[in-house]
Amino acid sequence: MRMVVKLAGALLEDAGGMRAIAVQIAALAAGGHQLLVVHGGGKIFTATLARMGIESRFINGLRVTDRETRDAAVMVLGGLLNKRVAAAITQAGRPAIGLCASDAACFTAEPMALSEGGGSLGFVGYLTAANVPFLESLWAAGVVPVAACLGLGPDGELYNINADHMAAACAEFCSAERLIYLTDVAGVLEGKRVLKSVPCARIEELIRSNRVSGGMVLKLEACRRALDGGVSQVHIVGGTLPHSLAAAANGGRGPGTRVLAGFGAAAASATAVPR
Ligand code: ADP
Ligand code: MG
Repeated sequence: MRMVVKLAGALLEDAGGMRAIAVQIAALAAGGHQLLVVHGGGKIFTATLARMGIESRFINGLRVTDRETRDAAVMVLGGLLNKRVAAAITQAGRPAIGLCASDAACFTAEPMALSEGGGSLGFVGYLTAANVPFLESLWAAGVVPVAACLGLGPDGELYNINADHMAAACAEFCSAERLIYLTDVAGVLEGKRVLKSVPCARIEELIRSNRVSGGMVLKLEACRRALDGGVSQVHIVGGTLPHSLAAAANGGRGPGTRVLAGFGAAAASATAVPR
């Protein structure tokens, strides 16, 4: 089965946690699944910017990315973190390759010229295509591709892409059957309770009533995009729970939240059928 697994930047900070996730990724790949891993940057990126004296500014949850910030994104996302994830999976017994957008024009982007508020976001883009034949050649060779959340623009510049949106677009472009978000919370929370499922039809209401905010808004929007794009199962799972990825990859019941198409009824009954 073809799956896209998105790793939150926060999960890459702890070596033990990273190892535990890498072992699950390696096991799924060894089991014949075609995995594309997409990772974000999280605090490491923000901390690096702070060390370089670059201030972080967000508009609607998207990082305003001037040239200096973009260069730092390439260093941290396309360099340090990308190689860290590839190393962990390789160490766990499955060869992995870290990819940045410009490698074989693997991931292309268009600039998002203006934010909704009218301010310029700089080098922020959205994914327009993935080089699927290239990814397929890696899967055929038994290699796990690991993608930094960057895209190559038509002007030859690299653009920062929100990792949740990048993962959803990758899942759509690669015709993945499953998209799994491993994040730093146990799933979509309502108070302390983890919601087992969230139908797309409820997302607006959850946002409007402030029960979902910050990064989770972008994540749920990305989930909806993936479902609209034909991805059949979308999960949001806590990446620090043991075996959480393996459980989500097996589909059906498991920890975390499953995001369902429409009002959820059709999709929920579809999961009752063994696949
Ligand atoms: P990631 O690195 O996985 O993309 P984000 O920080 O972008 O994570 O989004 C997850 C964050 O969204 C959580 O850590 C939490 O602070 C925030 N959040 C806001 N509302 C909710 C909610 N209802 N359930 C879970 N997380 C929420
Ligand atoms: Mg996020």
